[in-house]
Amino acid sequence: MKQNHQISEALRRAIGYLKNYDGPEVRIMEVCGTHTHEIFKQGVRQILSPEITLISGPGCPVCVTPAGYIDRAVALALDHGVTVCTFGDLMRVPGTEMSLSEARGRGGDVRVVYAPGDAEKLAAEHPDQPFAFLSVGFETTTPSSCLAVDHAIRDGLDNFMLLTANKTMPAAYEAMKDSTDLFLYPGHVHAITGLSDIKKMQAEGVSGVVAGFTAGELITALALAVKKYGEGEPFYINAYPRVVTEDGSPEAQKLVSQYMEPCDAWWRGIGMLPGSGMHLKKAYAQFDAAVRYALPEGVGKDNPGCHCGDVLQGRCRPEDCPLFGTVCTPVHPTGACMVSSEGACSAFYLYGGKK
Ligand code: SF4
Repeated sequence: MKQNHQISEALRRAIGYLKNYDGPEVRIMEVCGTHTHEIFKQGVRQILSPEITLISGPGCPVCVTPAGYIDRAVALALDHGVTVCTFGDLMRVPGTEMSLSEARGRGGDVRVVYAPGDAEKLAAEHPDQPFAFLSVGFETTTPSSCLAVDHAIRDGLDNFMLLTANKTMPAAYEAMKDSTDLFLYPGHVHAITGLSDIKKMQAEGVSGVVAGFTAGELITALALAVKKYGEGEPFYINAYPRVVTEDGSPEAQKLVSQYMEPCDAWWRGIGMLPGSGMHLKKAYAQFDAAVRYALPEGVGKDNPGCHCGDVLQGRCRPEDCPLFGTVCTPVHPTGACMVSSEGACSAFYLYGGKK
């Protein structure tokens, strides 16, 4: 009871600090889409002093997946007769010609699954039908795709594949470091990778704080970071120590390094970032749908009216887009940032943009 009281007292002080902060103006980029949504949902923006500005960054995996990737998935379903398995968020993301939802309407076998392992199980149940899982995500989801490949090998499957568009967060930190004064680093990513990447950022003069996802964790992390920022030296803080350790998860890292290796990757709205992607190693090419079906590379074409690229780089707020809330809504999304449950445009639309 006494401990609970102490926690709420510390939180009360953190709220007061953020509310009354009158130091130098500070811009904080929440790189992760989950943080963006939780910050809105928990009402964290409302307690910040006008001197503290939150910027939404490119950490929504669906939002940064280029239209060309959707085009390849559509081609798998419509031209090659592959059953495409995907997380629901990708269904309505526009490709150059159509979304996966439209491909399904045209007869493609496109199914929503909750994990890569679900697609692997389907492949085991239907050995005569090829299945491809759309492997999109950051360090948090890449291990589960590798585990599905591991299980496909164990089960002797030759009809299960991944179509990879996996990405790594440090590339986003590097690309965005001039757009912010400090980062709110995603706790779940660093639970996997540990702290080495953010120590490297600190050595380059970039500051940030690793944060969890509850209101208390977010407010505490922001208060610690803003206070430290005032000291003027580059820093990092691990404000999520109950989950994030120095070395992260060696098991997950080992699994990923067994099956995947870094590659260059195209980020929607940002462009090509060298070494920022993960794809299957050549030794596992039979599980790579892009290799097996010789799918053409290409970034595809986005709707020219959509400003997702600027939103993802913190150059404009979703409400600055002329289509926001009129032409583009969660029911009729024009761009990926409005489709995805982690997208900044959907967060601003659902919770109302403030600051
Ligand atoms: S509001 Fe819609 S059209 Fe505008 S940037 Fe966001 S997703 Fe793109």
